[in-house]
Amino acid sequence: MNSRADNFYADWRERRRAVAALRDDGSAPPEKLLQAVWQHQRLQRDKLKTADGQSVRVLHPGFASVEGGPDFRGAVLQFANEKPISGDVEIDLQTSGWHAHGHDKNSNFKNVVLHVVWEEVQSPKSKTQSPLAVLPLKNFLDAPLAELALALENESGLPENLRGKCSAPLRELSESQLAELLHAAAKVRFQNKADAMLARAKNSGWEQALWENLFRALGYKNNIWPMQNLAETKPRWTRGTNSAFEIQARLLGVSGLLPDELTRAQKNSDTFLRRAWDFWWRDRDEFEVCILPREVWKFHGLRPANHPQRRLALAAHWLAAENLISKIENWCAVEIPDKKLLASLHEIFQIERDDFWSWHWTFKSARMIKPQPLLGEARVTDLAVNVILPWLWIRARAGGNEELQREVERRLFAWPVAEDNSVLKLARQRLLGTSNARVLKGAAQQQGLMQIVRDFCEHTNAVCDDCRFPELVQCLKSKAQS
Ligand code: SF4
Repeated sequence: MNSRADNFYADWRERRRAVAALRDDGSAPPEKLLQAVWQHQRLQRDKLKTADGQSVRVLHPGFASVEGGPDFRGAVLQFANEKPISGDVEIDLQTSGWHAHGHDKNSNFKNVVLHVVWEEVQSPKSKTQSPLAVLPLKNFLDAPLAELALALENESGLPENLRGKCSAPLRELSESQLAELLHAAAKVRFQNKADAMLARAKNSGWEQALWENLFRALGYKNNIWPMQNLAETKPRWTRGTNSAFEIQARLLGVSGLLPDELTRAQKNSDTFLRRAWDFWWRDRDEFEVCILPREVWKFHGLRPANHPQRRLALAAHWLAAENLISKIENWCAVEIPDKKLLASLHEIFQIERDDFWSWHWTFKSARMIKPQPLLGEARVTDLAVNVILPWLWIRARAGGNEELQREVERRLFAWPVAEDNSVLKLARQRLLGTSNARVLKGAAQQQGLMQIVRDFCEHTNAVCDDCRFPELVQCLKSKAQS
């Protein structure tokens, strides 16, 4: 094979990259390249010094954040001869970025322990204002910038030496051993959910426990608690309602999410709002005690399709369909081929059409050209794995119906993969050494991996101090060999 020097294509590519790398901000590299340099630690690691002259040892650079906030989470660093500390790392081109980007006022950045920059701007103001250790990288690269740009261009995964301590033993497991391990962890997660439902059912009954969990699932991760609160007061605010629209109006009212003012720009929204207020203003006093303050809801980073107003509209339709629970019970009692599990449950939870919400993401958004479903398949999988299957299973166990329990378990392990998420993305790289989502075959394997993260990764740091999971993997391997 030709060396790179003989390869006209490689030569051309190198020159192009070298120019591109230096073009972003005068002499500074693009911030993305700086992040890649940090992630792959392409630095003279034994020489690193902060702007005020302290030596820094990077025991772990942290994990690239995929959900906003600081660029790297959970780094492990040692300043001078102090004890190692864990914290986040933010990367900016210049020190002034800390204030200019508003990180100093953003609570997501409160765990940042190191501000990595390209160079320290010699401004007395920024120097005195920065409460953090600042590490300028410009003089610590382990290769010329253009060479780094080329080398790191396609490196999106976690570098081999930053994988978890369990990654090597896990890769020695056969596919069936790995599946066995993930399924065992998934069972733990599933039973925990089911037990929590049982505890709730003992207090408030099976149906109420189901509704609370359905509402929680509609809250995604940011709005679980307001949704739980609404479900808890459901027996009160559903009283006397006769249609999905009436339930919707009351639900929007008690949630505190019914806008006080018309949009004056969207005719359809204003018509809907007037109708909803016509209904709600008569009820408002009666349900005053159930009304949530708007501040309990989180909207930051939500996709419009997941806005709580739209999710509440969906819940209103489920509540209006009086036979939802018997449909769920029936779904479990009939035989359904694995390939049709998702579609068959989707059919139960999908609603035909909502006059307003099928056409609007939010009150303020313009009417869509085509109607959009209120529930996608990805959400049905979340409902199945987190709510419906655990609820059916724990009820079957409480009723001593082992056959039904086995059938629910079978469905869990046959369920297709759920939507990918940031926990899975990192766990795949850290534990399984791959960014390929297809390595996990089915929702149960994803659940198992998330449980391992919860049981082990969340109790230690980025360098896996004192984690006993590698031992567990080793035991599984030895057991299989004996
Ligand atoms: S903390 Fe434990 S389970 Fe997590 S990556 Fe490290 S060794 Fe693996």
